[in-house]
Amino acid sequence: MIILKTERELSYMRSAGRIAANALQLAGENIKPGISTLELDEIVEKYIRKNGATPSFLNYGGFPASACISPNNVVVHGIPSKNCILKEGDIVTIDVGACYKGYHGDTAYTFACGEISKEAQKLLEVTKESRKRGIEKAKKGFRIGDISSAVQEYVESHNYSVVRDFVGHGVGARLHEEPSVPNFGKKGRGVRLIPHMTIAIEPMVNIGSYYVDVLEDEWTTVTRDGSLSAQFEHTVAITEDEPVILTLPG
Ligand code: MG
Repeated sequence: MIILKTERELSYMRSAGRIAANALQLAGENIKPGISTLELDEIVEKYIRKNGATPSFLNYGGFPASACISPNNVVVHGIPSKNCILKEGDIVTIDVGACYKGYHGDTAYTFACGEISKEAQKLLEVTKESRKRGIEKAKKGFRIGDISSAVQEYVESHNYSVVRDFVGHGVGARLHEEPSVPNFGKKGRGVRLIPHMTIAIEPMVNIGSYYVDVLEDEWTTVTRDGSLSAQFEHTVAITEDEPVILTLPG
């Protein structure tokens, strides 16, 4: 069932989204060679709690940290660790969820650690732009498939691939609600978008093939071919006119 949000619920989601976005931005500002992903996680958790929210991911399905931190060939669900030390040239995806007054905001960004290769830089730019193209279709009257195909077409036009095993989702009082928001699909198909729906649009893009493997810890998901992967995510509200991004810093 798709749950439409009241104005009050949307205002809580806007607060949750802002807190998540600020925590994400703060973590990004602290990325430098030598920092561990556990230190970044601590920065995220501290910011979220200081602002009256709770980390959505902590203990979600047993996830042991506040942020998913996924370097280089890790696609999603990287577990922060004191032994995972970032180095010059790495890219690192940080995914943050914050829950405020019972409502979630969910956002992710792939950051560069110092100077990165041209290849990595292009992956980041294409993935970020694909999120923008998806959000542009998050409007009344369009369908989920319009978002999916906008992302997929843009990504594939750059000869990258869109991960199939993980998708975007509705978000609200639960972190994952209906509908699913795949980053691949056909125009004109799927659920029709109506005002007061709230969805997370979160393309995961690999330089190589879209196949992924989940490691023995049952969380860390890597590209099967070892290629780099990036992800950008926003929580978005469908309105009577333009989509509203709920996960902007401020
Ligand atoms: Mg999400």
